[in-house]
Amino acid sequence: MYYLGIDLGGSNIAVGLFDDAGKKVLSKSTKTLHDRTFEEIVSDMAQLCQKIIVETKISIDEIKSIGIGTPGACDCEKGILLYACTFSFTNVNFREELQKYIDLPVYIENDANCAVLAEYFVGAAKGISDAVMITIGTGIGGGVIVDGKIMTGFNGIAAELGHFVIVKGGIKCGCGRAGCFESYASATAIIRMTKEFIESNPATGLLTYCDGDINNVSGKTIFDAAKLGDKDGEKLVEIYEDYLAEGIASLINIFQPEVFLVGGGVSKEGEYLLVPVRKIVSERTYMAKSDLIAQTRLVKAEMGNDAGMLGAAMLGKEFSRDA
Ligand SMILES: [Zn+2]
Repeated sequence: MYYLGIDLGGSNIAVGLFDDAGKKVLSKSTKTLHDRTFEEIVSDMAQLCQKIIVETKISIDEIKSIGIGTPGACDCEKGILLYACTFSFTNVNFREELQKYIDLPVYIENDANCAVLAEYFVGAAKGISDAVMITIGTGIGGGVIVDGKIMTGFNGIAAELGHFVIVKGGIKCGCGRAGCFESYASATAIIRMTKEFIESNPATGLLTYCDGDINNVSGKTIFDAAKLGDKDGEKLVEIYEDYLAEGIASLINIFQPEVFLVGGGVSKEGEYLLVPVRKIVSERTYMAKSDLIAQTRLVKAEMGNDAGMLGAAMLGKEFSRDA
């Protein structure tokens, strides 16, 4: 059987057809233009699916389902996106609307949950029934698999792993609280930290790693500088690693997953980032010193850009919910 997966992002709608093993057969994408109506966006999703079906010449009878990964909170049983700050529409039924075009079961799930599902079926958590993933980008997304099932909470919005407080009374977060993990460990937080440092230390060499213009600071700037021995870069990377490890250690204490996956743009730093973070985490997690207790493995997520599509496609495998 084959599975269609749709990654509905704020910028792009990406649709992929995958086989049973999670191997991509074909994918296509188009701009989301996220201030459009819900109906227009679903029409584009359907067109991409239909183009893929036509080009691959795979019969619709061989396709089991369509899965949609979206930002925001979903009612997965009903196929409804309840709310996502990315879009102007709320409480819309993707299942019913997409089935007007294609007669297949349609599933919907939060995009961070789809990312961890992709790792579970094909990637770094393959076959591992207890896994936690954070995706470090503009914010921090989270997905938790417990006993081989996505942990959704009773209302579908569990595993917002970016929004627990690591600095009480700290930096204001988009969620309304102050001092959230996301406010200290996202790429946005790295950029803020780097810019603040440059503003208060105008002679720093860090500027040479962003073409002399503070507006070019990215989540990579401090890593690029540190790797070339820049002392300010090294110092900021150390501060960042400490915040990241602080949050990860708490999450490991709570969930004790077999693997803890780090994905998103910042995870591209790979072992350069993870080696020191592992060391700090091992000093802060409960029972980490005991030889008798198996320890969580902290690893980089493997699925990259296709994770959203693939995880969405695999929703047809994961769930036996009625469509
Ligand atoms: Zn928050």
